[in-house]
Amino acid sequence: MRITVIGLGNMGAPMAANLAAAGHAVTGFDTAAPMPQGVTAAASAAEAVREAEVVVTMLPNGAILRAVADQIIPAMTPGALLCDCSTVDVDSARAVADLARAAGLGALDAPVSGGIGGAQAGTLTFIVGGRPEDFARMEPLFGIMGQKSVHCGDSGAGQAAKICNNMILGVTMIATCEAFGLADRLGLDRQKMFDVVSTSSGYSWSMNAYCPAPGVGPTSPADNGYTPGFAAELMLKDLTLARQAAESSGAETPMGAMARQLYEDFVQHQGGAGRDFSAMLTRFQTVPS
Ligand code: NAD
Repeated sequence: MRITVIGLGNMGAPMAANLAAAGHAVTGFDTAAPMPQGVTAAASAAEAVREAEVVVTMLPNGAILRAVADQIIPAMTPGALLCDCSTVDVDSARAVADLARAAGLGALDAPVSGGIGGAQAGTLTFIVGGRPEDFARMEPLFGIMGQKSVHCGDSGAGQAAKICNNMILGVTMIATCEAFGLADRLGLDRQKMFDVVSTSSGYSWSMNAYCPAPGVGPTSPADNGYTPGFAAELMLKDLTLARQAAESSGAETPMGAMARQLYEDFVQHQGGAGRDFSAMLTRFQTVPS
């Protein structure tokens, strides 16, 4: 299949490389990043998409996605499919899908879970919004770049599901970290805390699979000096998208709002920038007692 990938950063580059390694003819365009192995460079976004049957975008945010969509949609062949895998606001996802459909294209929003490691290993989860027939066309390619894809509903549903999931993740990570901070002060051994909570009603993915305490639980970024993994800035981005979605839909999300504020403080004032989001534990270790 002729596939174009636009946005070849930390995530897009390994995704494009995996598509090429599976035997597809992959063309790439990025304003800054080099081409990964097996991917043919194009001189512009519009040129990159002209012959493509499927275009995958993996870009930093909704404003950039909208700008790129304005360049590529008029250049794409009617009947081709535009699949955006970036994490963006629901409104941008829906606006881009509407533009694509009006031009006779298929359209999916398909943000991912799994991080850079998942992109490299081809084990991402795709969380997808759009029409069932477009999802069916894309499923074999999701199977190359990832190990699971979930069709959540029409356009925007993939972004909606992703930010709801990540709002839960941000809140539970903070709850897990502050509980470790409390346990420390109460003189409770961290391993004992893990043994109890991971098998009791306080268990969660944050505790059981991605424990923020070094040396406790399965291997996680905490055991590697909090090198991301999933960077604190990206958690702040997703919690900000959740807040925007809550405001525009009238939903009440007080825990999500508090988590966003704590991640903003952590990234901007408490040394969290460039660290894994589970390094939030160190913030609870250093507050004055
Ligand atoms: P990144 O910054 O490494 O890559 C983005 C790429 O887009 C860069 O190479 C940049 O040069 C390129 N770009 C920017 N403007 C462009 C334009 N106008 N035309 C063409 N290329 C352009 O970011 P990333 O970590 O690869 O993340 C990409 C998306 O995936 C984001 O939406 C992010 O929220 C999401 N995501 C990231 C992770 C992660 O762990 N990194 C996990 C899940 C989701």
